[in-house]
Amino acid sequence: MAIAPMGHDQLRELKNYLKFLKDCGYTEIPVRALTFKRETSAPDTAPPMPRKASSQTQATLEAVHAELGDCTRCKLSSTRKNIVFGSGNPKAGLVFVGEGPGADEDEQGLPFVGRAGKKLTEIIEKGMGLNREKDTYICNIVKCRPPGNRDPEADEIAACQPFLVKQLLAIRPRVIVALGKPAASTLLGRPVAITKERGIWQEYEGIPLMPTFHPAYLLRFYTVENRRAVLDDMNKVLDRLKK
Ligand code: SF4
Repeated sequence: MAIAPMGHDQLRELKNYLKFLKDCGYTEIPVRALTFKRETSAPDTAPPMPRKASSQTQATLEAVHAELGDCTRCKLSSTRKNIVFGSGNPKAGLVFVGEGPGADEDEQGLPFVGRAGKKLTEIIEKGMGLNREKDTYICNIVKCRPPGNRDPEADEIAACQPFLVKQLLAIRPRVIVALGKPAASTLLGRPVAITKERGIWQEYEGIPLMPTFHPAYLLRFYTVENRRAVLDDMNKVLDRLKK
């Protein structure tokens, strides 16, 4: 069977992907990774993302946003510049949930746009072969920046959580990825030891949930083991999305 030559875009994507694997410490191409890359190298690079969303989904997510309004339900409202509700495809099959906005996110009103955001985009686009805007939706457990990037406090998480729950139920993705301990602990309603529990499937309201390291943790502890762990977790997510 004749194999069609690769186009310029496909070659660039392949080069980026190989660089990403090298960055994760691979010295040869892992078979599973090769398999999913082949499947994603079809015209649009992104694998098909089966979804449950109905035509009502966007309106519902918009309704959640409208209900949140110019929220003053917790003390973070007094120091924030912008509410960071979430961004991406409201019908996405995959939702990433992080901890809270940082300075860049607060400035722009968008989640994961700073250094950690760039790392997350790299994981999604180079590591998973997906398109961040088209294939995923990204939000946080609190929608306003905790001052000085401190951890969100329990009362702030509690005040904001109903909106996270409504967001997730409006989107009803096929898979949720919890980025870091606070996101995983909030969604699962118990303290999660992320170093022990990452990579192990959990469930949130009947939706498979994968806990993994937060991209900011990866930047802080930039080891081959950590990078490879996240890539392994994302491979599991891709496998689940294909089922
Ligand atoms: S963090 Fe959530 S609950 Fe608190 S003010 Fe912001 S939007 Fe409202």
